[in-house]
Amino acid sequence: RTYHDSDADLDVLTGRTVAVVGYGNQGCAQAQNLRDSRVRVVVGNRDDDYRARAVHDGFEVLGIDQAARAGRIVLLLIPDEVQAGVVAEQIAPGLGAGDTLVVASGYNLAFGLLDLPADVDVVMVAPRMIGEAVRDRYLRGAGYPCLVSVERDVTGTALATALAVARGIGATAAGAIESSAREEAALDLFSEQAIWPTVFAVLQASYEVLADAGFSDEAILDEMYLSGEPAEVFARISEMGLLEQLRVHSRTSQYGQLLHLERSAELVGTLRDRFARILRGEILSGRFAAEWSAPGADTESRIRALLDRAGTHPLIAAERAVRARG
Ligand code: NDP
Repeated sequence: RTYHDSDADLDVLTGRTVAVVGYGNQGCAQAQNLRDSRVRVVVGNRDDDYRARAVHDGFEVLGIDQAARAGRIVLLLIPDEVQAGVVAEQIAPGLGAGDTLVVASGYNLAFGLLDLPADVDVVMVAPRMIGEAVRDRYLRGAGYPCLVSVERDVTGTALATALAVARGIGATAAGAIESSAREEAALDLFSEQAIWPTVFAVLQASYEVLADAGFSDEAILDEMYLSGEPAEVFARISEMGLLEQLRVHSRTSQYGQLLHLERSAELVGTLRDRFARILRGEILSGRFAAEWSAPGADTESRIRALLDRAGTHPLIAAERAVRARG
């Protein structure tokens, strides 16, 4: 179901301080939106640039542990990969019976990585929008997509709290969707591990074929993405629908696209098998999370090694050369 402003009562937050932990992309936007919704907000951050920015924006800024003690509702807006450690050491000790922890992404809850006291409510309010746009759309009175769920309801009021927070950050203006941490995390990981690598692979294979046929790097890359045309196509897809947007393409383009879509049935079958293996074997089984979030895993060097290997594809060298030529 979809929750609208009329389902959410901001008065639920009256007299309850909201601690926004982390003043980065989401924290900065959500803290300001909540304050403009007349919610009492304190910010928890380490002593660095983000802290200075929160002070500059007029917030009372505390250490993370102090903020967790001060807030009856704690918004966990620090990167997913550091949440388990920060929660265990600095946040859990400050949470009291009946407090609410709010996450903006389902990952750590879905894979059981947060060690939380048994007497706190746990909810998810997960904007599907970058922080800057969360702020900008709130100021314009426009909503944005957001997933909401109750993961643990000790008080019996967890949903009311989640919806009040969602409304306070402007997420119910266009309707927030009922979901779960598991669903949110699985869909996120699926698009990261199935959809986008396949798009990269399509571009790599296309480059190999087109460069081999003797076409210039400039022309190939402009055709594939440097012109920005795919961004325009995706914008039309979101506005008009997958098939409807074909109307803005030439007749030749429409015919070619539809003809070869029909001839791709075998490819769809291959991808379906591969994607099902990724979804079940890697994501829902918790295998990916166990590997990526293992305590002490050297995530930075893993990313660097993969990035170095991906950078050896000729498409990347061609892109660099074309960019350098301006
Ligand atoms: P950011 O990377 O912007 O968060 C930075 C904040 O986290 C800063 O305040 C930073 O403080 C703090 N931080 C980083 N590392 C640590 C640490 N080890 N200990 C304490 N504080 C730390 O995060 P996002 O806003 O992008 O993401 C926050 C949450 O929102 C995540 O759960 C994410 O999945 C979710 N989300 C993000 C979206 C986005 O568009 N970015 C969209 C929807 C949800 P410091 O300067 O001290 O490092």
